[in-house]
Amino acid sequence: MKVTEHIQNAQGKSLFSFEILPPVKGQNIQSIFDGIDPLMEFDPPFIDVTYHREEIELKELPNGLLEKKIVKKRPGTVGICAAIQNKYQVDAIPHILCGGFTKEDTENFLIDIDFLGIQNVVALRGDAIKSEIYFKPEREGHHYATELVSQISNLNNGIYLDADLQNTSKTDFCIGVAGYPEKHMEAPSIDSDIYFLKQKIKNGADYIITQMFYDNQKYFDYVAKVRAAGITVPIIPGLKPIATKKQLNLIPHRFKVDLPDDLIMAVVKAKDNDAVKQIGIEWCIAQSKELVKAGTPVLHYYSMGKAENIKAIAQAVF
Ligand code: FAD
Repeated sequence: MKVTEHIQNAQGKSLFSFEILPPVKGQNIQSIFDGIDPLMEFDPPFIDVTYHREEIELKELPNGLLEKKIVKKRPGTVGICAAIQNKYQVDAIPHILCGGFTKEDTENFLIDIDFLGIQNVVALRGDAIKSEIYFKPEREGHHYATELVSQISNLNNGIYLDADLQNTSKTDFCIGVAGYPEKHMEAPSIDSDIYFLKQKIKNGADYIITQMFYDNQKYFDYVAKVRAAGITVPIIPGLKPIATKKQLNLIPHRFKVDLPDDLIMAVVKAKDNDAVKQIGIEWCIAQSKELVKAGTPVLHYYSMGKAENIKAIAQAVF
């Protein structure tokens, strides 16, 4: 079922969903199930699986020369989605990127997931890889998620890259896109970011899922701005509980989101990582309860495969 249908069927009740990432190469599928099993009692209507593109690694050889190696550390997005749908009968949502994909790769990826009975996809640009400063698309790839959304919409209308294809079948994907309550790090202003968000919706996206935030007011203000821009699709908040002291610096650095002073001070004063984890859980419970009260359609948790803290939050909220 599509995400938008799950939301309609819930008739105003807030749903619980979460996101996992494929394990590093070498681990088996059980590590994925171990992260999902404890959360199934909260009836997630869908589970997202992130996509991780290839990276370039430079390895120093004994003669001092550098060997360039292309590595994909977390393969398996589509396989994990198929395994989730098969084992749990829950909709699994693969993320798909512009980065690392030619348009042909994108079309073939979409055909694969369509054949697997996957009805939802989250369309993203992806970040620059470590060896680049700015995001660089493939030669035959998309520059922005707006273009990727258009390609998916085209396929939903039976329009393939090869215009000569006859009697083509149509896909029927429900398309999610990213939104940034504290604006995307490269956007010159929140208004320009929302302008391009609107393009993604015009091109066929069905719902928005947000970057994490730790101050609900930022989400509420963002929703108001997005609505004022004429966007009416569901806006699903993304939540990630703090679990380590290191994240105080890592999260703002990596995701360009601010942390509220009260949360920072509580984490700074915590005596060990167990105490930090508890603070993160309590903060996220308070955020979640307020979002549920505000009638938010779905609360989406970035579990990163660590179910323990998300379970504690879900127990208190759902
Ligand atoms: P876009 O919507 O393309 O926007 C990128 C920037 O360009 C923005 O600043 C925007 O304002 C601007 N822009 C957009 N269109 C135009 C245009 N036509 N002209 C000029 N400027 C434009 N990354 C992964 O690698 N794998 C994942 O699985 C993954 N999952 C994610 C899930 C969520 C919910 C979120 C919020 C992010 C996720 N990311 C993931 C990270 C994401 O790939 C990065 O944040 C990336 O930098 C931007 O992706 P986007 O789809 O928002 O890009």
